[in-house]
Parts: sequence; C-alpha cells; structure tokens
Amino acid sequence: MSLSFLAPAADTAAAHGPVNPWVALAYLVAGVFFILALRGLSSPATSRAGNRNGMIGMAIAVITTLVTHDIANIVEIGIAILIGGIIGVTIARKIAMTAMPELVAGFHSLVGLAAVLVGWAAYLNPGAFGLLVGEGIGAVSKVEMGLGIAIGAITFSGSVIAFLKLSGKMSGSPIMLPARHVINLGVLAAIIVLTALFAMATGPAQTLPFIIALTVLAFVIGFLLIIPIGGADMPVVVSMLNSYSGWAAAAMGFTLGNAAMIITGALVGSSGAILSYIMCRAMNRSFISVIAGGFGADSGGAGDGEAREQRPYKQGSAADAAFMLEQAESVIIIPGYGMAVAQAQHALREMADMLEERGVEVKYAIHPVAGRMPGHMNVLLAEASVEYDKVFELEDINSEFAQADVAFIIGANDVVNPAAKTDKSSPIYGMPVFDVDKAKQVFFIKRSMGGVGYAGVDNDVFYMDQTMMLLSDAKKMVEEIVKALD
Ligand code: NDP
Repeated sequence: MSLSFLAPAADTAAAHGPVNPWVALAYLVAGVFFILALRGLSSPATSRAGNRNGMIGMAIAVITTLVTHDIANIVEIGIAILIGGIIGVTIARKIAMTAMPELVAGFHSLVGLAAVLVGWAAYLNPGAFGLLVGEGIGAVSKVEMGLGIAIGAITFSGSVIAFLKLSGKMSGSPIMLPARHVINLGVLAAIIVLTALFAMATGPAQTLPFIIALTVLAFVIGFLLIIPIGGADMPVVVSMLNSYSGWAAAAMGFTLGNAAMIITGALVGSSGAILSYIMCRAMNRSFISVIAGGFGADSGGAGDGEAREQRPYKQGSAADAAFMLEQAESVIIIPGYGMAVAQAQHALREMADMLEERGVEVKYAIHPVAGRMPGHMNVLLAEASVEYDKVFELEDINSEFAQADVAFIIGANDVVNPAAKTDKSSPIYGMPVFDVDKAKQVFFIKRSMGGVGYAGVDNDVFYMDQTMMLLSDAKKMVEEIVKALD
C-alpha cells in the first residue's frame, strides 16, 4: 500500500526544505515531555511532576528553535523572553486562585493574537519564513496561514469577551442578537469561502483584500460566538477557547514548518476539546447547545440576585453545628466557590481531623464544576494536605448521601441545587447535582440568605426541614466550629 499521501504537499516541502534529523529528534523528545506533562496533570498527586515535564519540554523546544534558526538578533529575543518571564512570574505569584479562570482566558487571548501576528508576518515576508515557492506563496501554505489567522482571531476576541465576563467587567448575562444563528453561520461560511479565495489568488494585489476580510470577520465571529453564552456555561467556554488556541498554534506550526508547534498545538487542541466534552457531560448538556449559546437567558444569568420571596429557614451557630457533628457517624463535606473565596480549606481540614479522632467518618464530595475552574476544589484540598483517598467525584459518592448523617456544604450553592433536577425553567436544569436533600441533616455555610451562586438562582435546600443555615464567612465559621470541638 502506498503511503505517499503522508508526504508533505509539494509546495510546503519545497518551501521549508529538508528537515535536519537532529532537530526533528529534539522536537520529538519535547513532544514526549508534553505528553508526560498531560499525563502527570491528570492527578493532583503527580501534577507537580507533570508541570516540570512541561517546562523541560518547552525549554527543549525553545532552545532547539533558537540554535537552529538564523535569529536576526539573539539579544533582542533574550530581552523579550526576560520581560515575558518577569511578567509571567509576577502574575502567577499575585493571582488569587479564584481569579484563575479569567487569567487562563486572558492568556488564551494572547495565544490567539500571536497566531494572527505570525500569520500576517509570514504573509508580508514569506521569504523570511521559507514560504516562497517561485514568485509567491504556495496554495497549501496559504490555506494553513488563513486557517491559523482565522482560528487565532476567533480565539483572541472570544477569549477577551470570556475574560471580561469572568472578571465581572462585563455582565455575565447572555447578550442575544436576533437571528444570531443565521448571522454566525453566514460569517463562518464567509470565512471558509474567503480562505479558499485567498489560497487560489496570486500576487499581493489579489490576495491582500481576502486576507484582510477574513481576519476582520474572524475577530467579529469570535465576539459573536461568546456574547450569547452566559452564567454557568462559562467553564466550558474557557476550555473550548483553550482548545481553539491549540488548533491555532498547530495551524501556525504548519505555516512555519515547525513540528514542535504542530505537536504542542494538537495536544492542547485535543485535550481542551476532551475537557470541554467531559464538562458538558458533567453538566448534562450537549456541546452544540453550549456553543450555540444563550444558556441562562431566561433567568437573567449569573449573579443577578433578583428579589425573592421570603421563606422560613432555620439558622444555627457554630456550637450547634459542632455538637451535631460530634454525634454523627458519617459526614460528607461539599466544598464550593465560597470556600475558595474564604480560603477556608486549612480550617476545614483541621475540623475534619478532629471529627475523625472522635470516630466520625469524613469524606469530601467534589463536583466537576464546583468553584470557578476545573479541579479548583481538588487543588485547594491538596494544598491543605487532605488525603486523596477521602476525596470523591460526583458519580462515586452521590448514592452515599442517603446514608450520610450530615451533608456539610461550605460555600457551594449551584452544585447542590435540586432545581437542576426538577425545574425545567431553571438555568441549571439538567446539570447533575449532589443529592444533599437525602442526608439526615444539612449544614449550609454561606454569608447571607441574599447571596446567590454563579447561576443567580434561589436554592430550596436553604428551606428544608433538615437544613441548618450557618450564616458567616466560611473560614470564620469553621474556625469557630473547631474552637467549639476543642
Ligand atoms: P456557587 O457560585 O454556586 O456558590 C458560591 C456560594 O458561596 C454562594 O452561595 C455564596 O453565598 C457563597 N460564598 C461566597 N463567598 C463566601 C465566603 N467568603 N464565605 C462563605 N460563603 C461564601 O458555587 P458552586 O461551587 O456551588 O458552583 C460553581 C458555579 O460556578 C456553577 O454554576 C458552575 O457552573 C460555575 N462555574 C464553574 C467554573 C468551573 O470551571 N468550576 C468556572 C466558571 C463558572 P454568599 O454570597 O451568601 O456568601
């Protein structure tokens, strides 16, 4: 069987010339380190090693690129790396865990913008990128360039909107344009047609209008795709934009003839896509319905806190909670965004240790979208040295609430809201939630009855007979419980 279809397209091969086998080997080794990095990041226990492997792989890729290319000015590159490094380290040290999703969205926007700039640089000076075939750029190179610019521009404007929404600088509510699906499909079709016309055209006078039009339209569609998405769907959007930024980098890898970029881009693109899929499954929503947008439109979306009817509820104190926790045989702790805000994880661990010393079985239940980023709660609990074998995922622990004495909710809200199971009009309808209502007792720590979760909706659990509201900052309340247990 002939494998000739695997050979690079004639114009691409001619443009980039033969690949030095040592360079190919170095990029392959970098790729293996990236795969090891992803493997390591799949569990909190191995995530540090995973991070280290990622850094080693990136160092190999960057050094190989620097020593094997005619770099115009190595000093300028060094200064740029230094400035970027200082900015990166400063941001990483300062950023609060709760602001991580918007930081990730912000960084994705830079990846997208870089892809657009590289694409344009290659278009304006194809000789410098080894893209000249005869007089002009080959058709295949132009398709790669067009795709890289388009995906990069969509990633850029989409990520900027996600950043603004997540950081509260723009309302999290969906913004719905009339006939938006028709507009979006029309713009996407126009981008595909423009990329084809760009590839077929020859000479700057003919190609320039196409590449300008496709860049502008791609920026616009990124914006249009993300503004109708609101409320609880944002995590999926961040992960989807992560995936886009990978595909943009992979497309640019083809343009530059750089295997490391193709490998890295494909790894980021596919892992982001898989994560988006897993999150959609966790929220019981189809991927298409999320990216088609408009989730939460009827409810007013995130954090609107509309006026709600007053209903009776029971309020308790730290002493009440401590007394009942001591009597319990099994306690399931459900942490959420509020635990991250209050930084209550260390006090919580102390409380759990004290209960375990008294023979109480303590488990932690983590919802896939608890907090504000995937793995948010796992990271915080790991920071407080909670053993991994006490931490359970939704599907593994949900059936245990029926036998639990206490469901201890600390700063979570949407992920325990039964409206997700029963109220078709709720913006979180369909998302699987913890069955806390089945536990004998429910303790609910939050600061006030008025505060709502990310999706901005009331929660029937507050008003159940077996629920005791512990209204306070999470850290303060848990510290008081610890004192009462002492
Ligand atoms: P929620 O956002 O539903 O609820 C947070 C709760 O914490 C609120 O009830 C709030 O009430 C309380 N709270 C806030 N600060 C404190 C504090 N200092 N002390 C005590 N309580 C506090 O959190 P969940 O984790 O349950 O749900 C996550 C939501 O975020 C889901 O809707 C999810 O889809 C969405 N999301 C998830 C992302 C992810 O990747 N994990 C990313 C982006 C969004 P009060 O103000 O009264 O204190």
